[in-house]
Amino acid sequence: MSKFWNKHLCGIAPYTPGEQPKDKKYIKLNTNECPYPPSPLVIQRIHEYSANFLRLYPDPETTGLKEALAKTYNLQPQNIFTGNGSDEILAFAFMSFFNKGDKVYFPDVTYSFYTVYAAFFELDEQCIPLDNNFNIRVSDYSSCDGGIIIANPNAPTGICLSCSEVETILKNNKNHIVIIDEAYIDFGGESAVRLIPHYENLLVIHTFSKSRALAGLRLGYALGHENLIRALECVKFSFNSYTVNNLSLAAGIAALEDVDYFNEIRSKIVATRNKTQKELESLGFMVLPSSANFIFVSYPVIDGKTLYSNLKKQGVLVRYFSKQRIENFIRITIGTDTEMSLFLEVLKKEIR
Ligand code: PMP
Repeated sequence: MSKFWNKHLCGIAPYTPGEQPKDKKYIKLNTNECPYPPSPLVIQRIHEYSANFLRLYPDPETTGLKEALAKTYNLQPQNIFTGNGSDEILAFAFMSFFNKGDKVYFPDVTYSFYTVYAAFFELDEQCIPLDNNFNIRVSDYSSCDGGIIIANPNAPTGICLSCSEVETILKNNKNHIVIIDEAYIDFGGESAVRLIPHYENLLVIHTFSKSRALAGLRLGYALGHENLIRALECVKFSFNSYTVNNLSLAAGIAALEDVDYFNEIRSKIVATRNKTQKELESLGFMVLPSSANFIFVSYPVIDGKTLYSNLKKQGVLVRYFSKQRIENFIRITIGTDTEMSLFLEVLKKEIR
């Protein structure tokens, strides 16, 4: 901080991303990345890509990618917005649909970037507690006097709402934007995308970072009524017309084309998740019911921070959140079967 800083910035506590340490090789189960490589078609298209094209700006309208997404979701390109990762799209959505001082509602335990955006854009954050089992109570969102943002499945709990529960929230808040962040939806949840033709207040945000194994590429998209998409485009073109680069466009299209690979890796992750959940339960862990590529667990006699640091010392990275209500939990990303067996071996020694 210095005298040159914007005054507002001085009060901001930025988001802390999961660690990416380089000191040694870890079994990395801390940032919900996909343990499998991207589709072979993505790799092939990147190899075939002529680096000479990099002297040209990318298509600012991202037409090819929008067409591929439109085909995937049975929507029109005007229902689609693309961006440099879904975090960027979330930030643009906060800019597009809120005015300074507006209320924004979200659960007390959720993706911690929402509170950062709320502070950054000077909104009035309204945190609604999850129930005692860490579920979102739909009735708590029955008539909010402000926009709503919900991660579904929620993070870091992994628990999801059904599509009809999301629809109830949409019906009860027709005059406010409802943003559903479906970063993890491909691992078991029910997407709200099919509600888009019926609700002009619904914006669904997806990412290529998890189920499409492209976190390093930085690619995300939003789906919604064309009026909402136009607002996002207005923010983008007032800010940076080229948020999605040439290589990302080519790779993103390839990832969407390879439907078989997408289905193969997500079902492998779901199978490993279910197996890991059972093993942890048999060791005495409490495991929240996850529809995501991670599980949120606690152990009766060791707190989350101790578990996290002991596992780290043994070369396994998981995520710990120093936050009320969840300080006894750790979040474990689902890796390959081999990684999860190694993780369980280390864990068994820790709790012995
Ligand atoms: N939403 C949620 C709930 C997430 O956990 C993440 C990943 N940290 C994101 C959005 C952002 O993902 P990305 O920017 O990689 O698309």
